[in-house]
Amino acid sequence: MLELEKTLARLEQAEAAKCFASGMGAISATLFALLGSGDHVLFLGDIYGPTIEFADRLAAYGVTHDQCFDTDIAGIEAAIKPATRVIYLESPGSMLFGLLPIRRICELARARGITTIIDNTVATPLLQKPLQMGCDLSIHSCTKYIGGHSDTLGGAVVGSAELIERIFYKGYMLLGAAMAPMDAWLLLRGLMTLPARLMQQQASALRIAHFLSDQPSVRRVYHPALETGEQSALFAEQMRGHSGLLSFDLAADSHADLLAQANRLKLFGKAISWGGVESLVTAAHRGEPAPDHAGRYPRGLLRLSIGLEGTDALIADLEQALTP
Ligand SMILES: *Cc1c(COP(=O)(O)O)cnc(C)c1O
Repeated sequence: MLELEKTLARLEQAEAAKCFASGMGAISATLFALLGSGDHVLFLGDIYGPTIEFADRLAAYGVTHDQCFDTDIAGIEAAIKPATRVIYLESPGSMLFGLLPIRRICELARARGITTIIDNTVATPLLQKPLQMGCDLSIHSCTKYIGGHSDTLGGAVVGSAELIERIFYKGYMLLGAAMAPMDAWLLLRGLMTLPARLMQQQASALRIAHFLSDQPSVRRVYHPALETGEQSALFAEQMRGHSGLLSFDLAADSHADLLAQANRLKLFGKAISWGGVESLVTAAHRGEPAPDHAGRYPRGLLRLSIGLEGTDALIADLEQALTP
């Protein structure tokens, strides 16, 4: 585990890292260690569901939180409260891949003595270096791209030696989400092929994003490289590329019809996780959203995690599944 921690710290140019049994192990221990009664957390962007559920639990211990979906700095500044101790963000988000102005958020936070935490799982340590943009802590679910083979769980938090020590004594030691040696070994092996996997998955996902953009039944494709304006500028400034993730809003008569179309895919596994060598598809909604309220995600949103199968075969599979 020490070797993995050193490697992850090096990849993000951080002083230190701590590994956990899972991404949620890292997230829960970090928030638990840094927050106390009376403190407020501001969540920015499209946050991983269980992270918000954990924050809901912290309310029982006097820690309050808000979620702000603004991407402009004025809106974000207005959401900061006098009691805000932590700003926790995801950029890119894990369903629509929206980006936030990381440098400006961290400047705002630093001027107020607020700790910034980013969940950097989607970008991986290779495609985005948040600590270099001013974030105090970067968190990863190693279960996704770092492991890369859908057979290991793991989590990590990287940052200054001082903050990692605090998380070690006030989170890691108390909550028990310690990483097993075999998992650390598998994750070190995963890291060795991460650049090669990402390169192919990235190229494949981009071709698939362009293919989907041309389909009449696809209303919109979500992929940072297809965005324009401010999102495109942030993509160029903050990231070295995007991974193998994309999503799209598919025209469907009903939720059942949406699932029927997704189920016609033969090369894509039907599962929620992502970042492995096998392509996966998942629907954003578990059932039919209320008629005029689909929430933050479009009704027909399907997310694809592109694996290492041939791109032509994946495109042919999508073509047959989406053709009525
Ligand atoms: C999966 C995921 C997590 C949690 O990771 P586990 O290892 O499954 O606990 C956290 N953040 C994001 C963005 C994720 O996708």
